Amino acid sequence: MTLSGPTPEQWAAAVAAVRSLGADDEIQLICHVNPDGDALGSMLGFGLGLTRLGYTRVRATFPGEFAVPGPYSALPGSALLVPEAEAWTDPRLVAVFDVASESRLGGLAGRLTAAPVSVVLDHHASNTGFGTVRLVDPAAAATSVVAEQLLARLGVRLDAEIAECLYVALATDTGSFKFDMTTVAVHELAARLIATGIRPGEISRRIFDSKPFGAMKLTGEVIGRAVLEPGAAGGRGMVWTYATLADLERHAQQPYVLDTLIDPVRSVAEADVSVVVREVAAGEWSVSLRSKGAVDVSGVAVSQGGGGHRLAAGFTGYGEAAQVVDTVRRLLDEYLN
Ligand code: AMP
Ligand code: MN
Ligand code: MN
Repeated sequence: MTLSGPTPEQWAAAVAAVRSLGADDEIQLICHVNPDGDALGSMLGFGLGLTRLGYTRVRATFPGEFAVPGPYSALPGSALLVPEAEAWTDPRLVAVFDVASESRLGGLAGRLTAAPVSVVLDHHASNTGFGTVRLVDPAAAATSVVAEQLLARLGVRLDAEIAECLYVALATDTGSFKFDMTTVAVHELAARLIATGIRPGEISRRIFDSKPFGAMKLTGEVIGRAVLEPGAAGGRGMVWTYATLADLERHAQQPYVLDTLIDPVRSVAEADVSVVVREVAAGEWSVSLRSKGAVDVSGVAVSQGGGGHRLAAGFTGYGEAAQVVDTVRRLLDEYLN
């Protein structure tokens, strides 16, 4: 695994790919399924940048149901968003954001191979290396860091709309500037974004501190059933819980309200590894893995067809929740014993 970012040749190829386009050429932007703040923020921030350069046919989409999680529904650039079915069928350029593997593109993966040029902007160490121009920087705290660098190389000046998108992406992927990758460069980028006039307090309230009452009750119930296993993960401890579609239905909540459920779970001091298993379809589970530092959870995720980073990773599991957790427990034991 290398931590080196894009080469000068890769940056030049990405800039040339954009500059070779005519103003009316169709450009399709795609981010990962079940989009989060970084996926949407980096994609829409970059898309707005393209419109500032005069490109008129920029569309942005993601695979699956066309439902933007509540906190991100008012992002600037949302006018560029279209449902998967309305994505350009034959675009001149495809750019993908925050996508570690083609499987995260669902039914849109074919768009990539069909386009003459596909630019991949990402920061997952587990990125599988697809696309014709790869801007993958595992040392970047968010895909928006890569997006901002490409915008700068294209001569796009940051304005408040672009900045808000990139800030939301940066704030979500760094856990509000808490995680390990929160470097001097991250704070410098945040400073440049804030200098455009955006209001971090207001944005943070909207993104992080605004959920329906029912979401709190649901979260309480799911946290109430968490299990601590001090002996798991080679004695480093594991804490886990799960949420079903029936839980969501009982509390009349949208799936996105559980996107941050891992945060209270991973705060448990007695466990290095935390696991949240969320049902996304009957018998299909989105598995979130976190480590405080002792365990590389991306190894577990990648072995199950998922991906992520050393301390934050995920995969899709099948069967019963308990079976999925059994698999994680067994894989951790294999890695650590
Ligand atoms: P999450 O737990 O959903 O917040 O995801 C944590 C990290 O793991 C993020 O970097 C995701 O991109 C990555 N990740 C989560 N689920 C998957 C998956 N099914 N396939 C690949 N990467 C994933
Ligand atoms: Mn993401
Ligand atoms: Mn990301």
